[in-house]
Amino acid sequence: MNDALLQLERASRGLNPDATERHEMARLVLAHAESFLEEVPKLKTFYETPAPSDVLSTSFPEEGRGLEACLAAIKNEVDRPGITTTAPRFFGYVPGGGLYHAAFADYLAAVSNKYAGVSFASPGAVRVEDQCLDFLASIVGYGKTQESTSYGGYLASGGSLANFTAIVTARDAKHIHGPLISKSTVYLTDHAHHCLDKALHLAGLSGCIVRRIPVDAQFRMRVEVLENQLDEDKKAGLKPFLIVGTAGTTNTGSIDPLEALGHLATAADAWFHVDGAYGALFALCDEGKRRLHGMHLSDSIVLDPHKTLFLPYGIGALLVRDKRLLLEAHAAGADYMQDAIHVQATSPATVSPELTKHFRGLRMWLPLQAIGVSAFRNALAEKMALATYFRKELSQIDGFEVGPEPDLSIVTFRYVPKSGDAEEANARLVQQIHEDGRIFISSTRLDGVFTLRLAIVCFRSHKEDVDVAISVLRELTEA
Ligand SMILES: *Cc1c(COP(=O)(O)O)cnc(C)c1O
Repeated sequence: MNDALLQLERASRGLNPDATERHEMARLVLAHAESFLEEVPKLKTFYETPAPSDVLSTSFPEEGRGLEACLAAIKNEVDRPGITTTAPRFFGYVPGGGLYHAAFADYLAAVSNKYAGVSFASPGAVRVEDQCLDFLASIVGYGKTQESTSYGGYLASGGSLANFTAIVTARDAKHIHGPLISKSTVYLTDHAHHCLDKALHLAGLSGCIVRRIPVDAQFRMRVEVLENQLDEDKKAGLKPFLIVGTAGTTNTGSIDPLEALGHLATAADAWFHVDGAYGALFALCDEGKRRLHGMHLSDSIVLDPHKTLFLPYGIGALLVRDKRLLLEAHAAGADYMQDAIHVQATSPATVSPELTKHFRGLRMWLPLQAIGVSAFRNALAEKMALATYFRKELSQIDGFEVGPEPDLSIVTFRYVPKSGDAEEANARLVQQIHEDGRIFISSTRLDGVFTLRLAIVCFRSHKEDVDVAISVLRELTEA
């Protein structure tokens, strides 16, 4: 028996490298990261996928290949192909930079592997998450601290899951079950993120009546139309259930009139949810705060630190103004949790669908503590100013039509050639831009019209990068 055990122990020794081995691993990984980071400013924004090597196409080996072989495969086949979201001239979708400090926080979180779901298991990890939530709540204007308890929240994997949790909470808070579902109305615009449709479906609310409220010339929800629709629906015996305001749409960065929406929701006894996944964090800077006024009236709000706090992907946040409702929506228990139960009331696991989870709070906490908040405020103010600058510069180039003044850091525009089909010309232009690789932008449809959009969210993007975008657009349309 003893021999057998020792044999198994020896054969699995690779799982636990010793100090010398760890030192060598750290050296290799840091060198890898360093070579990636040194290249970032020069990287093209898009790379084709090479034919997969053995490492990525055959099944895992019984005897390991060693770290170096893996790093080489990561470098060629993972770091490179596809879009380079970390590049300073990546302006597509919602860019993601990935702060270096956060990478070390992730490393430390994985090494200590503290159990961040339950405060009994790691009071420190939960305290870290609460501190992050307090910070977000202060930006939103919810005020109170998590401990003196009015609001509640948790750090999710992203905006989609956070929005889903908000919808589930709203559903239970407003008792939208059974026959009431088909009498309940939801109000949002065509510019609301599609994850909300997904969330309604996942929450069993596909049967609700969804009112797509039209937008104005700035792509913001038209309040007077919402007001009339609410009146009509009430008169028709329907139950106005949920009003979704977007604080920075993915399409155009527009901000719905949050304050007005909040008041209408209160008057209609509807839940007011704000999807601020992309935009809400701009309230860290003065101009953003002014534009986002009214967020504090929400019953729930989503913010995505992996967008506008520049963190690596995998962290979104939900805040619910009344913590009780969040707790009630997630109430569940189990015998094997009995040791943890007495302090469970303040644990992420009791206010979210997750139990065991990544200790993602540390990647938000460490940069904010170590770098300080001011750098973030300034970076966000810079992104907004860059968007205004880009729009102004582009509007002076022949052939370009620009969309409305940006509310945040997304600019919409299109190329209108002197002759030929504008639709085709813009589709071709995006294609040429992607092939060129100096910048990356994405396209969308606004009122059915093929439109280009430039989103400035990466912390590495500065004026010189926006100038490159302008040169590329000029060059490619001059010929
Ligand atoms: C990105 C985004 C989402 C979805 O968030 P993920 O983090 O991608 O899951 C939801 N709403 C808005 C407005 C967004 O920009």
